Amino acid sequence: FDSREGVIWYDGEFVDWKDAKVHVLTHGLHYGSSVFEGVRAYGGEIFKLKEHTDRLIESARILGFKIPYTADEINAACKEILQRMKLTDAYLRPVAWRGSEMMGVSAQNNTIHLAIAAWEWPSYFKPEERLKGIRLDMAEYRRPDEKTAPSKSKAAGLYMICTISKHAAEAKGYADAMMLDYRGYVAEATGANIFFVKDGVIHTPIADCFLNGITRQTVIELAKRRGFEVLERHIMPEELSTFTECFLTGTAAEVTPVSEIGPYTFVPGEITKTLMDDYTAEVTPKASAAAAE
Ligand code: PMP
Repeated sequence: FDSREGVIWYDGEFVDWKDAKVHVLTHGLHYGSSVFEGVRAYGGEIFKLKEHTDRLIESARILGFKIPYTADEINAACKEILQRMKLTDAYLRPVAWRGSEMMGVSAQNNTIHLAIAAWEWPSYFKPEERLKGIRLDMAEYRRPDEKTAPSKSKAAGLYMICTISKHAAEAKGYADAMMLDYRGYVAEATGANIFFVKDGVIHTPIADCFLNGITRQTVIELAKRRGFEVLERHIMPEELSTFTECFLTGTAAEVTPVSEIGPYTFVPGEITKTLMDDYTAEVTPKASAAAAE
């Protein structure tokens, strides 16, 4: 990944992709003082860029540092990197971290860096293929409470338990893992939020110790627009047998149907299909949607 062609926005400048490096004594690498975003562009337009940038700034604030660029500057940099890379359907990865001046737990005066990379990422939308659903394992690790970790920050350190859980699931042939929270309630997948359907009603865990995903919020809004009832509540893992549909939501995952979680099975149905279609329509820029008609 580090040997591609192109440029990366790095501390206000465009740096050759291969030269966008950090020092090995970077605080973010040793102590996890790093936050990031996953953003997507469809048809040349960045979906919910403002929300992602605001979350990036908030993630850093929760970790106690201030990104030395305004939201407007970050938004402009995201748009410019897309243009420079000549991308239309792409993934953008802004990342901010504490630098390498001081080595130790305390690093009050270390420079805060920001980089933004973008690469081609065509939309997954192939409904027939995706409607088979993915299989999830049950993760061993649990999402920590807000007093144990900065759960509301999209902090690199929180992904340690996600990578361990995802690798363990992949080793057993699953696509991903479903994590419980510290209380034993259903939380989310390793990089996406989770939804269930029962008797025409949508159920999703309360986002009180994991990201209230931008896609999650979008899908709840789309569901309500359709007149579906959406219940945000604590869900016990034993309840999984009572749900008929299940799907994940996330910037990368979009709306991804789930067919299996451990011993429980689900069949993507009308609500999942409707929300997949509505999400596609929502992210598609209005101009290119009109041109396709
Ligand atoms: N939870 C986790 C752990 C994630 O990594 C993501 C992806 N950012 C999400 C939820 C979904 O967030 P969003 O819809 O904002 O991409």
